[in-house]
Amino acid sequence: MTKQITLPEDVNALLQTLNDGGYEAYIVGGCVRDSILGRIPQDWDITTSALPEQTKALFSHTFDTGIQHGTITIVLNKTNYEITTYRIDGDYADGRHPDEVSFTSNLEEDLLRRDFTMNAIAYHPAEGFRDPFGGQEDISRSLIRGVGEPAKRFQEDALRMLRCVRFAAQLGFQVDDATYTALQENAALIEKISVERIHEELDKLWKSPFPEKLSLLLSSGLLPHIDGLLDKRLTALGETLVPQLKAAPVSAPLRWTLVLQSFTEAEAKTFCKKLKFDNATAKQIQTYLRHLSQPIPQTPYEVRKLAGILGVELTENLFILQEILQDKAAVQTAREILAKVLADGDCLNLKMLEMDGKALMDAGIPAGKAVGETLGLLLEDVLHEPEHNKREYLLEKALKLQQK
Ligand code: ATP
Ligand code: MG
Repeated sequence: MTKQITLPEDVNALLQTLNDGGYEAYIVGGCVRDSILGRIPQDWDITTSALPEQTKALFSHTFDTGIQHGTITIVLNKTNYEITTYRIDGDYADGRHPDEVSFTSNLEEDLLRRDFTMNAIAYHPAEGFRDPFGGQEDISRSLIRGVGEPAKRFQEDALRMLRCVRFAAQLGFQVDDATYTALQENAALIEKISVERIHEELDKLWKSPFPEKLSLLLSSGLLPHIDGLLDKRLTALGETLVPQLKAAPVSAPLRWTLVLQSFTEAEAKTFCKKLKFDNATAKQIQTYLRHLSQPIPQTPYEVRKLAGILGVELTENLFILQEILQDKAAVQTAREILAKVLADGDCLNLKMLEMDGKALMDAGIPAGKAVGETLGLLLEDVLHEPEHNKREYLLEKALKLQQK
């Protein structure tokens, strides 16, 4: 088992400052778990016996980010560190948040409020690990186990159930039997959790290295309480989704498009609205779904037209999705054409057209609808014949079209 954790200098300095002030302080939670696993922690959280005001008095730059829960943020060398006072969470009447939190001077009481044994380990460079629930042992067995009585813990905060599935997928861990049974029995409680939190956890699940843990989402009974249609479609897709997710880059729009692959564009729009996706991601998913229902472009004209509509980046992403879901050979052809079209600098859209509305009007085409229509026809011509993208040719053609 890991004997010690190498802390960044700044984290050591923070612990030292708190200790010098006469308080206990440990690193805790995700950073301890990830360090034991040999993974690079995303952030370093500190738990301390100092009350928030006492912590603030020790540091010059602090923010009250979550002071009602005892959390102070310290900025050191442009990095944020969260320092939280040892805390006991009160009753959870709403299944989401404790009604009240109270502070304690006992580290083990703080560890007791945490969700899983692997997340309830504290560490101090001079003292080593404080691990009252066997978190290190569980990590060594790749096991997610609730702290205390899992059913009670899920009833307190239903988000923990989805965190459980997400951690399984991020770490490739198994879920302990009793914890899994409690999850199944309490799955319906996920309805109490805000869509934003659900979205965030699902996002992490799809982007995780072990998307096969999607099986936990399906077998636990959580999904019907998140979204009925998603449950139906994912159940129908079953295991086929897993290698598809693994083949895609770790990108929210791409991975979500795979998850929503059997949704119509309209269904995806409704779903994204319900789960409060940001507009850009929702739009991208809908765009990919729309184009996935159309043939893969196989001629230079079709490729130019597509790249003109989507832009190069989204076209390349669409090719990735088509390669995963549809026809590898056809995508290979499309990619080769795109490479040539780009290398040749072919005109793809109105911006690249050697003609504009003002020049057309100067040449006598009446302002209004005719200008836009003419530009559209000229672009169509150039998409077929890139060498037609010359001012004289286009002007002549515009005037001819005008005479018709
Ligand atoms: P990540 O790598 O996703 O940040 P993490 O374990 O650090 O994982 P955070 O959400 O950053 O997760 O929370 C930090 C710590 O706070 C957790 O390790 C856990 O000890 C505790 N914690 C977070 N959310 C909950 C919760 N819903 N219930 C109980 N404890 C929680
Ligand atoms: Mg964290």
